[in-house]
Amino acid sequence: MAEFTELSVADIRDGLKQGVFSARELTDAAYANIEKQDESIHAFLELTPELAYEQADKIDAAVAAGDELGVLAGVPCAFKDNMNEIGTHTTCASAMLEDYVSPFDATCVANAVNAGAIPLGKTNMDEFAFGSSTETSHFGKTMNPWDHERVPGGSSGGSAAAVASGMATIALGSDTGGSIRQPASFCGVVGVKPTYGVVSRYGVVAFGSSLDQVGPFARSVRDAAETLNAIQGRDPLDCTSQESLVDFTANLGQGVKGMKIGRIPAFMEVEGLQPEVRETFDKALLKLEGLGADIVDIDLPHADAAISAYYVLGPCEAFSNLARFDSIRYGHHAHGANLEQRYEASRAEGFGREAKTRIMLGGYLLASGVYDKYYYPAQQVRTLITDDYRKAFEKVEAIVLPTSPRTAFKFGEVSDPTTMHLSDIYTVSINIAGNGGMNLPIGLGAESGMPVGMQIVGPQFHDEAFFRVGAALEAVCDVPRIAVQKGGLA
Ligand code: GLN
Repeated sequence: MAEFTELSVADIRDGLKQGVFSARELTDAAYANIEKQDESIHAFLELTPELAYEQADKIDAAVAAGDELGVLAGVPCAFKDNMNEIGTHTTCASAMLEDYVSPFDATCVANAVNAGAIPLGKTNMDEFAFGSSTETSHFGKTMNPWDHERVPGGSSGGSAAAVASGMATIALGSDTGGSIRQPASFCGVVGVKPTYGVVSRYGVVAFGSSLDQVGPFARSVRDAAETLNAIQGRDPLDCTSQESLVDFTANLGQGVKGMKIGRIPAFMEVEGLQPEVRETFDKALLKLEGLGADIVDIDLPHADAAISAYYVLGPCEAFSNLARFDSIRYGHHAHGANLEQRYEASRAEGFGREAKTRIMLGGYLLASGVYDKYYYPAQQVRTLITDDYRKAFEKVEAIVLPTSPRTAFKFGEVSDPTTMHLSDIYTVSINIAGNGGMNLPIGLGAESGMPVGMQIVGPQFHDEAFFRVGAALEAVCDVPRIAVQKGGLA
């Protein structure tokens, strides 16, 4: 039933309360849609109808009893496959965890389900979240719903594609260096990386523990805000999570009149910034001005070192986090004549090429005599970049920049790692600094016809600032939120 795919989180809640439809009907419609589309998109690695229908029946019983419904009641939702969910495979799209079945729920998953979300299934991703295209998945690629010859972005490409195609109303992803915002940009949906600490990371398989943050994908700013409301908060199981009592929907209608919004001129000089991205971005800036925002030029003097720092810090943390996949505690088992050989064979068979590259890089960078040349300076750069943002936010209330220098590329088009890493140029700096940011679809590229996104960043622990800007700009940017497949029917 196509019309179900268009419903917002609030539409679903209201429709359930008024008896327009049941949670079971919503679940039926979601799976019918997945059956129709996912063969050609491959957003899902596993579907979980038992969990979904069990939840739907709970919601329908709550409606019948007249009980208060959670914020996400009846909302079809997908989880990235690095999030533990009891009884599901949590593979991180890796052969290493192919047979691993979660014995517990990640806190973000539990929070979404406790708020009433219907857990449809687990989504495809780059292996262990290493990548920007979802091409490194051990289980095959995910297609961009707008154009099946193009990548959905990554690493949370499956979650972005599930939402952009209408197969899920919302999805959760994780973002270490852009893995929510960049695929959201490539697929034309809203994607939010909250400030580090807003959402618990407990039960999410770690990549870079000081950088990882969980956040929502949605088709509107409001749906993203409602989802974040449901999953945020202090969790005793993650000591980096913070008490957060912000209602992210509170100032969505406030507009941006008089608001100071920063633009970074140096970022528009980046090599590889596509003309169609620049054009669409500049038009959106004019729209913000038209809405009464005061656009102010700012400088982040050390941001050009962000990508280098990220590709030191990220692999170092990954190296340490992935040490646990040794076939004894976790992971694929291979045979070996002794323990050493068993470790070696298990890791050689279990990890894909990109994961091995990151592990080797991290191991090298942390070796004695090497770490003081790379790891220490990268940490120093981190402090400088964090300080750049802090100072910038003394002058402005939000900062805007492109999410990605380019629109979604074709499969195989970007094969060298350097070009792939450069596609993260606009996203990594806020993982380094800890700030939160959102991708907002602002138009379609004049050349490719693919979605272009604007990234809106807020001061630390003031994510409501980018929600406010996002909602105002969204109202004047007419971008279809369910992918219009190129060459096909709308
Ligand atoms: N593309 C980046 C990387 O490969 C970011 C990945 C992420 O955010 N998980 O490291």
